[in-house]
Amino acid sequence: GPGCLVFVPQAKGLEYAEKIAETLEKEGMSVFLYERMSPGMLEKFRKGEYAVLVGIASSRSPLARGLDLPETVRYVVFAGVPRREMKVEVKECNPQKLLVALKALSPLLGERMGKRMASVLSSLSKVIPVRGELIQKLREADEGKTQLEGFAAHLRKVVLEAREILEEAMGDEELRKEVGRLDVEMRMEGGEWVFISPDADGYLQASGRASRFYAMGISRGVSIVVVDDEKAFSGLSRRLRLLADEEFEEYVPEKVKEEFEKVDRDRETIRRIRRGEVKPEVLDLLRSSLLVVESPTKARTIAYLFGNPAQRTLDGFTFYEVASGQHVLTVVASAGHLFDLTTLEGFHGVRKEDGNYLPVYTDIRRCADCGEQFTDHETCPFCGSANLRTKKETVELLQKLSLEVNEVFIATDPDAEGEKIGYDLYVVLSPYCRNIRRLEFHEVTRKALRKALEEPGGLRPSYVQAQVVRRIEDRWVGFELSRKLWEVFGKRNLSAGRVQTPVLGWVLRQTEELKRKIPVATVRLENGLVLRIQNPEGPPPQEAEITDLSTREEKVLPPPPYTTDAMLREASQRLGFSASHTMELAQTLFECGLITYHRTDSTRVSIVGMELARKFVEENYPGLSRPREYSKEGAHECIRPTKPLSLQQLRFYLSAGIVRIPQKLGPDHFRLYDLIFRRFIASQMREARILVQEFKVKVWGKEVRERRVVGIIEEGFLKVHQTLRVEGRVEEGSFRVMETKVRYESSVRPYSQGDLIALMKEKGIGRPSTYSKIIETLFKRGYVFEKGGKLFVTPLGRMVYRYLEERFGRLVSEELTRDLEETIDAIENGKIRFQDVLKGMEEEVRREISSSGNPLPPR
Ligand SMILES: [Zn+2]
Repeated sequence: GPGCLVFVPQAKGLEYAEKIAETLEKEGMSVFLYERMSPGMLEKFRKGEYAVLVGIASSRSPLARGLDLPETVRYVVFAGVPRREMKVEVKECNPQKLLVALKALSPLLGERMGKRMASVLSSLSKVIPVRGELIQKLREADEGKTQLEGFAAHLRKVVLEAREILEEAMGDEELRKEVGRLDVEMRMEGGEWVFISPDADGYLQASGRASRFYAMGISRGVSIVVVDDEKAFSGLSRRLRLLADEEFEEYVPEKVKEEFEKVDRDRETIRRIRRGEVKPEVLDLLRSSLLVVESPTKARTIAYLFGNPAQRTLDGFTFYEVASGQHVLTVVASAGHLFDLTTLEGFHGVRKEDGNYLPVYTDIRRCADCGEQFTDHETCPFCGSANLRTKKETVELLQKLSLEVNEVFIATDPDAEGEKIGYDLYVVLSPYCRNIRRLEFHEVTRKALRKALEEPGGLRPSYVQAQVVRRIEDRWVGFELSRKLWEVFGKRNLSAGRVQTPVLGWVLRQTEELKRKIPVATVRLENGLVLRIQNPEGPPPQEAEITDLSTREEKVLPPPPYTTDAMLREASQRLGFSASHTMELAQTLFECGLITYHRTDSTRVSIVGMELARKFVEENYPGLSRPREYSKEGAHECIRPTKPLSLQQLRFYLSAGIVRIPQKLGPDHFRLYDLIFRRFIASQMREARILVQEFKVKVWGKEVRERRVVGIIEEGFLKVHQTLRVEGRVEEGSFRVMETKVRYESSVRPYSQGDLIALMKEKGIGRPSTYSKIIETLFKRGYVFEKGGKLFVTPLGRMVYRYLEERFGRLVSEELTRDLEETIDAIENGKIRFQDVLKGMEEEVRREISSSGNPLPPR
C-alpha cells in the first residue's frame, strides 16, 4: 500500500534503487526515485500521488533525517541490511582516511599494539588536514619519483607507520577470528581493505520516519528488513538489542496484516486531530512525568536510554528531558539523602511522645569548601566556612518541577536506603503532585525501566522503618560510646559502633595470634612434591614415603554468580581491590547500566539473565551452556552483566558508540566488569571434570594427608573462569628428600579485606549495604592499617577495643550484633514492629552505659 519509504544500502548503489523503482512501477505503484529532496515531491507523496519513495540509505540522506509526516508514512522497507562500508587503499596516502580506519580498528585490537597504535593515532591527528597537492606528492614518493623534505617527509613517515600497523592488523589470523565473532567484516578487495559494519544508527533514524511524535505519543509504524546478508543482519540485530532493547520478528503475512490495521487506526486518529475533529479532553494525551533518582550518573543513563535528551538547568541544578513511549520524562537526581537525624532534639535526635518514638529528621548540609556533610550547623563544624549548600535547595527545585507534571516516579535504588530516600521524596513532593509512584528495577536498562513504568508500585514502609532503625542504632550506640571514648582517651575523632567493634576484635585477635610462632618445615622430594609440615620431629629426614594413593575423577560445579560479599572477596583476592574501591566501581557499573544492582545477598538468576548467558555461551562456547536458577526466592537477583558482552566486546561497542554510557570508565572498572562477567557466565556453563589424587606422606616424624588436582578431563566452565591449580602427578613408594627448610611461622595468616568480609558473612554481621562501610570506618578511625594487602590492628585500635570489651562487652558482643542484624531484617520483612525494637534498644543502651561506671584511664 501507499505511505512507503524504501531504503537501498549504500553499497548497492543507485542502479539497484532504479531497478526496484522500475519493478514497483510495473506492479502498478506510483514511485518516485529520489536523489535530492524537492518540496514538490513531498507534497505529492502527502497527497498520495506517490505511494512509494525509493532512495539510498545513508545517515546524510534527507529522507532518513528530516521527514516528519506522521499521517502519511506508514512503513519503511530496507531493501537489504543497512550497513556501512569503509574502504582504504593498501597504499593509502590520505592521513585522514588512515586515521578513520585505524580508529575503527583500535577497539578490536584490545591490548595488542596498544602503545604503537596510540602514538600513530596521535601523530595522524596532528598532521591533518592535509592539502590535496601534498597527498599527490606522497603518491609520487611511493612510486619513487620524488624525494621528500621537511614536513612532507615527516608526513610520509607517519603515513608509512599507519599503513604498517594496518597491514599487520589485517594480516593477524587471531584478530580476524575475533573480529569474526563481533559483527564487522574485514576483507581485501582489489588493492583495498574493506570494512563493513551494520549501521544501527542509520536504521533507527530511517525506521523512525514511520513512528513519529504526535499528541498522543508515538505513532505506530512498521519497519521491514529484507535480509541479503546474514552476518550483517545478525550484527544489526545485536546492535539494536544493545542500543534499544529491540528485537526483530519473522515476517508472517497474517501478523503483518494485523500490525497494519493498528498502523492505519493511528493514522486516522492523527488526521482527525489535524482536522480538529477530536476534542483535546477526549485525547489520552502524552503524560508528563518527573523521575527522581539519587545519583547524577544514573539520571544521565536513564535519560540516554530513550534517545538524545534535552539538558536543562534551573537554579544551578541539571536535569534531562526525554520522551519514552507514553511519557515525557524529566529525569533529575537528588544527589543522595535529603535528610538525616537532628543532633538538637530528644535522645540523639529521637523524641518520645506517648510512649512512641519520633525520629526527627532535618536537612543535610554540605560545606562547599571542604566537602563535609552535617546537619543543624549554620557554619561548617569542620572548617568554619559559611559557604554551605543545603538539601532544602534540592527539595525546592524538586517541588517546582513536581508542579509541572502529571506524575512523579521515584526510582531510587532497590534497597532499604533507596526506600528511605524515596520516602523522604514522597513526603516533600506529595503536596505538589498527588500522583507519586515508586519504580523498582534492579538494572538500569531500557527493558527494565519500561517494565517498571508499566507496573509502578508504592513505597514499602517496612524498608523505610528498617533503614530508620539502623540509623538510630548507629546514632544511639555510636554517640554514647564515642562520648565515653572521648572522655577516656581525650581524643575527639574516636568513634565506636556496634557492628564495627566485633570486626575490630577479629583483627586484634588475629594480629595477636600471629605473634605465636611454630616451626614449619618445607620439604622437597625427588619427584617434585613440596610439602609443608608443622612441628617436625627429630633430625631432617633422608626419605619420605607415599602410601594409600588413590586417583579418581571428580565433577566440579561452577561457583554461583556473585553476591556482594563474594564479589568483594574475589576482587580482593584476584585484583587486590579494597572493599570500598570495589563498591565504588560496582556502583558506577550499575549506574551506567552495565551490571545488575550490586548490593544483594541473592544468587538468583532471572529468566532474562539465564537467556543472556545461554545466548553468549552458545555463540562463543557451543555445547557448554547449562542454565541454572540457583535460588527461587525474592525479587532480588545476583550481580551479573546486563548485556551479553565480554570485556573485549564491551570495549568495542563502547568505542563504536553502540553501548552509550554517561561516564568514562577506567581500567579498574573494566577489570571488575570482566570478573563479574566471567563468574556469571561460568555459573551458567557445564561442570568441569577433573582428576584428583589423594595420598598419605610419612616424613619427618609426621604423617600428612594430601589432596591435589592433577588433571583436567573436561574444561567446562573453567574455560571462562579458572578456579583450580593443576599440579604434577605422584606415585606410591619411597622418595629421596632433596631439600629441607625450617622456619618459625605463625599457624594463621593475617586477614585480607576479603577474609574479613567472608567472616562477616559467615558470622551474620554486616549486610550487602554495610560490608565495605564497616571496614572503611576501621581505617578512618585509625584502628587498623593495611600492609601488603593484609590487615593489622594499631595500638589505638587495641586500646579502644580492650576498653570497649571490658566496659561494654555485652553491647558490642558478636551475639548481640548478630541479633541486631536479624532484628533489622525482620523489620524489613514486616515481621516485627519497629517501635518495639526501638524501645528495647533504648533500654539496653541506657542500662549498659550507666552500669559501665566511671571511666578508667586507658591501659
Ligand atoms: Zn567545611
